[in-house]
Amino acid sequence: MFKSLDINENEESKTTPSGEAERVKCLIIGSGPAGYTAAIYAARANLSPVMYEGLQPGGQLTTTTEVENYPGYPEGVTGPVMMEDFKKQAQRFGADVRWGMATKVDFSGDIHKVWIDDSKLIEAESVIIATGATAKYLGLEDEKKYAGGGVSACATCDGFFYRGKDVAVVGGGDTAAEEAMYLAGLCNKVYMIVRRDVLRASRVMAERTKKTPNIEILWQHQTKGLYGENGVVEGAKLVKNLGEPDEQEVDIKIDGFFLAIGHKPNSDIFKDYLETDSVGYISTIPGTSQTKVPGVFACGDVQDSHYRQAVTAAGSGCMAAIDAERFLSEKNG
Ligand code: NDP
Repeated sequence: MFKSLDINENEESKTTPSGEAERVKCLIIGSGPAGYTAAIYAARANLSPVMYEGLQPGGQLTTTTEVENYPGYPEGVTGPVMMEDFKKQAQRFGADVRWGMATKVDFSGDIHKVWIDDSKLIEAESVIIATGATAKYLGLEDEKKYAGGGVSACATCDGFFYRGKDVAVVGGGDTAAEEAMYLAGLCNKVYMIVRRDVLRASRVMAERTKKTPNIEILWQHQTKGLYGENGVVEGAKLVKNLGEPDEQEVDIKIDGFFLAIGHKPNSDIFKDYLETDSVGYISTIPGTSQTKVPGVFACGDVQDSHYRQAVTAAGSGCMAAIDAERFLSEKNG
């Protein structure tokens, strides 16, 4: 979502169309639950936050249907409506929410530079990064065709809708194992579609998965496509031992198809200035949202490979705004 650009060229000349950079106290990049919550807190703390929403205003939640596990919505709410509520709440306190995407940064000085859409330059005293993560998909046309009709990349979000049904989870890592076990507690049967003959998941998780009676691991299987009437998944076409002499087509009847092949944190443009783990999740000082650059804070899924929930993202957005407020008041006296 946030593309990486070469940061080495001289950018001093790239400013706003009028030639001037805009100076802000607090810039928020990204607009999921973490970004909007940071905006609510920063606006209420008089930081006059400016937020750039990115390519997908509202973030990953706008691709989900019903959200039933966010406290305060006893009847549930759709992801897009919830994100619209967050946005309205941030705007009510004066957050300046704008359309645009951060394409490049320079965190080498006291004032942090962020370019929006490769042209407008923002100079920020503090920056809150809330760019989220993007679930990886297999790249099949059918994943798009059945989006919202049985294809999901979040079992905790959507598993409940498949109670008593048969579903499949793709992947063999810890996320796939965890999601398969979560779904096994709700569903009649869970197929785990694993492309190799071993699980990448930690031994404990792998053993637990193998011992769960209603999980069937389909070793060395890959997905070719999905099928079903009216945009609703009814089954998947798989291939076993792809490319081997004993290659074989396999058909499974399922109502839900869950991707769990990893996430990609949207951190590419920050990598030259911030520490990340090997996958790209931004490292923060434990218990805070502070990155290794003073005045730059990270919250939500771009720094959380573990919980990845709307409510935890919102909590970390609150932390980032409080950390930014304290940083600015110490700096400016
Ligand atoms: P991982 O990268 O660890 O695993 C991805 C899995 O998806 C692998 O089994 C991989 O197969 C498979 N995969 C990848 N691409 C494809 C593809 N195109 N087709 C089929 N299968 C594919 O990602 P996770 O999200 O599982 O975990 C990310 C990190 O988070 C890990 O470090 C993990 O340990 C951690 N984590 C920890 C948890 C915990 O401790 N409770 C819970 C969740 C995550 P292959 O093995 O063949 O490459």
